[in-house]
This record gives sequence, structure tokens and C-alpha cells, in this order.
Amino acid sequence: MEQAEIGLIGLGVMGSNLALNIAEKGNKIAVFNRTPDKTDEFVAAAGDLRGQIVPCKTIEEFVAAIRPPRPIIIMIKAGDAVDQQMELLKPYLSKGDIMIDAGNANFRDTMRRFDNLKDSGLTFIGMGVSGGEEGARHGPSIMVGGTEESWKRVEKVLTSIAAKYNNEPCVDWLGENGAGHFVKTIHNGIEYADMQMIAEIYGILRDGLKMSAVEIADVFGEWNKGRLESYLIEITEKVLRATDPIAGGPMVDMILDQAGQKGTGKWSVIEAQNMGVAATAIEAAVAARILSSQRGERQAAEGILGLPSVTPAAVSDRKAFIADLENALLAAKIGAYAQGFAVMAAASKEFGWNLPMPTIAKIWRAGCIIRSQFLDEITSAFTKDPHVANLIVTPAFAGMVKDTDAALRRVVSYAALGGLPVPALASALGYFDAYRRGRGTANLIQAQRDFFGAHGFDRLDGADSHHGPWGSGASAA
Ligand code: NAP
Repeated sequence: MEQAEIGLIGLGVMGSNLALNIAEKGNKIAVFNRTPDKTDEFVAAAGDLRGQIVPCKTIEEFVAAIRPPRPIIIMIKAGDAVDQQMELLKPYLSKGDIMIDAGNANFRDTMRRFDNLKDSGLTFIGMGVSGGEEGARHGPSIMVGGTEESWKRVEKVLTSIAAKYNNEPCVDWLGENGAGHFVKTIHNGIEYADMQMIAEIYGILRDGLKMSAVEIADVFGEWNKGRLESYLIEITEKVLRATDPIAGGPMVDMILDQAGQKGTGKWSVIEAQNMGVAATAIEAAVAARILSSQRGERQAAEGILGLPSVTPAAVSDRKAFIADLENALLAAKIGAYAQGFAVMAAASKEFGWNLPMPTIAKIWRAGCIIRSQFLDEITSAFTKDPHVANLIVTPAFAGMVKDTDAALRRVVSYAALGGLPVPALASALGYFDAYRRGRGTANLIQAQRDFFGAHGFDRLDGADSHHGPWGSGASAA
């Protein structure tokens, strides 16, 4: 019997959809799931694709069904389960076989797993997959990290299943060991910021302009025809238009304002800090989700403190203000993406990955949650200057920031004066203002550090004197 081109373990939501996608693109695939009943259910529901699928009930049978060197996708619950599954698989594998963790792994786990397999003759790929269930079934964005040789073994199958943007596949090899999972983590951090900023703009339209969900849907619908065109704006319009089947009003108005998270946003903030990169908009977005989850505490605080004793100002020219909101969202989004790419540039240096920035922007243009035409512009900016210090100083994005930051300033001011929370938008504005200012205020912080800790400072004039004349009470002389 012809052997399968690839194997997949884990027929949950993502694994079963990915397996069907692989089969549909003409690749024979062997599948295995810890609970065997799920394998039967999967095959029974596979319809015409059944001929491309080799269902296996034991690991031994599964491994034997795949053409060596065997690429095996592990698409199961992230964390310890992956280590356990790898241990179970290992005794059946041969030199050159490739275990591919396609779940949402912490890239530090991926680096550990990669290193642990080094002397065994087996290889490991950490593969970020974005696009959720729908993406897995019809074309995800795929971020691959591992050896180039192992990538060559899986390139054909992965290229066949990835999303396409203008016929270009949204998959590529991004570097050794943890590169793929790191890039996926930052993708998710940017996604958190993008979603939070959209939610803050929605808050201004709802609580500032007192617009209904359907009226706000119209606004997002218009924006989706312009510079903000993206999957997230598109689904925001759809969500706002949906009607609650129980109470009959807008569905969104009936949903608790408590957002969940699974950890990748938090990891991206932790890694930004580890790399010494300011990712303020992403940090604000993760913090906003945490605050959102503390609903009881927020309600109690509202009872004690009340809402701010200001109300959003009346807007005389609604059309102009909505145009400001559109530009403000674009400006803030540029800030968040610039921060995410800066974190990746720092990690690339730290881990010696040589991450290809234009390629990353390219493979995010379709298939993933943050897909948008805006990423096409990021691709061209990084293609022209792949080593630029920050996206916002590339000619194209500097121009966009200059065109839109005044609107962001007006929107953040309107929200602050009206008592509406816009932490991510405000963080992006603060980031622009701090990043573009050649002479900041840390001279005072250095003086304070020298005063209490004799930490010393450098002088503007370069003179060889590194402590201040602080006098009594200071630890520096
Ligand atoms: P899911 O539907 O909950 O399925 C979980 C799968 O993991 C099942 O096949 C389950 O097998 C298996 N599993 C759990 N513990 C195991 C263990 N100890 N040993 C072996 N198998 C075990 O999960 P999912 O949504 O497909 O997510 C899978 C991975 O993809 C996760 O890392 C997730 O973060 C990531 N991911 C998810 C999405 C998404 O939108 N859902 C998007 C991107 C990435 P049994 O049937 O035997 O329980």
C-alpha cells in the first residue's frame, strides 16, 4: 500500500480540520488520536476524502503508515501533553523523522524540545498555525521553525495547505528551533492589541456618540472598504449586526464584558520585556483583558467611586469625528505592529534566528486572524529596508504616522476628557510621542538614580564627570 506523505496526531478541532485540508490537497495522511473513538468519528465524517486518510489505532501502526523520513504533526493540547506524546512516539521513530508541534507552544518549550532531540537523530519543528478552525480547514498562515533540512521535507505539503495571498502561499521557514513559535506568539500579541483598539473605538461610538450596535456596524463596514480593511474589522461589522436569538436585540449587547485569554498575549509581553523592547500597546491590551475579567471588582469600584464626573463632549460634526476615529485606529495599529516587529527584531538577534521581516509580514497577509491589506504595506516597507530600527521610521509608515497621529491625539483627548477608557490607543500615542523625541526626560531619572544609588550618569557635553553635586542626604559624592 502507498505510504502516507505525512502523519497527524490529535483529531481535536484544529487537528481534524488540518488533516482534512491536507487530504483535500491530494496528500495521503495517516491519523491517530489518543481516544480511538474520535478517529472513527473523524473518518466517518470525512466523506470523499476518506480515500486519502489512513486511520490508525496504535502508534506502531501509525508510524509504519508514513513514508520515511516521517513528518508527524502533533496538534494536541499545549504543554505537558506534548512532552508526553513525544515520549510515547519516540521509541517507534527512526533517524531523520520529524516531530512537528503545531499547537500554541511557548517558544522556550520548543527550544528545549529541539535541543533534547538533537543527539537522538530525530528532528523537531515548532510550527505556529493561525486562522482558527476555518483557517486550519481551508488555509491557515503557517510559521515554521526548525532545521532547513526538515523544512525541505515538509515544504510541499505545507505549501499545498497554506492560505494564498495573490497566489503566494502564507507559509515559510523562518529560522531554527523556536523561531516559528516565537513569531506566532508575537502575531497573537499584535492580535490582542488590534482587537483591544477596535473595542476602544467601539466604546467611543457606543458610550460617547451613543450609537446603536447596528449604526456602529455601518461605520466598521465603511472602514472595511478603506485603509483599515482587514479580517478583524470585517468580523466586527458582522458581530455588531447579529441579532440575539433569545432576547431579539443586538447580540453584542447581551454578551458579558469579560474577555478570556490563553496565554500567548501574556507571553508576548513577557518576551518584549525580556528583549528590552517597549511594546506598550500590546502590554495595554493584555492588561485590559485582565481588567475585563475582574468584572466583580470593577462593579464594586463603580459603586464606590462612581463613573468619572465628566461626560463625553457633544460632537458637532459627527462625520469629521468618525473620520478622526478611523485615522486614530490606523495610527494606533501602526504603533502596535511596529512594536511587535521590534520585539521580533530583538529576539532574532538574541537567538541568532535571522528572522526575515518581509517574509513574516507576507505570510500574515492571508489565513491568519490579523490578515489585512495593511500587511502588504508592511511587506514592502521591510522589503525596501529589512534592517530598519522601527517600522514607523520607514518612509511609507512615517508618512502615515504624520497623516494620522493628530487624529489619534484628538480621539485620545476626547476619551480622556469624557471619562472613556482607551488604554491601548493612549499607549500607542504615548509611544509615538516618546519615540520621536530626541531629548526626553530621563536625565532627571538618571540624576535621581545617582542621588540615591550613586549609579552615575553620562553628560551631554561628554565631560569626564559622572556624579552630581547632590550634597547631604545623597549617597553619591
Ligand atoms: P481540542 O479540540 O481541545 O483537542 C485537543 C486534542 O488534544 C484532542 O485530540 C485530545 O485527544 C488531545 N490531547 C489532549 N491531551 C492529550 C494527551 N495528554 N496526550 C495525547 N493527546 C492529548 O484542541 P484544539 O483547539 O484543536 O487545539 C490544539 C492545539 O492547537 C492547542 O495547542 C491550541 O492552543 C492550538 N491552536 C488552537 C486554535 C483554535 O482556534 N482552536 C488556533 C491555533 C492554535 P483526546 O481526544 O484523546 O482527548
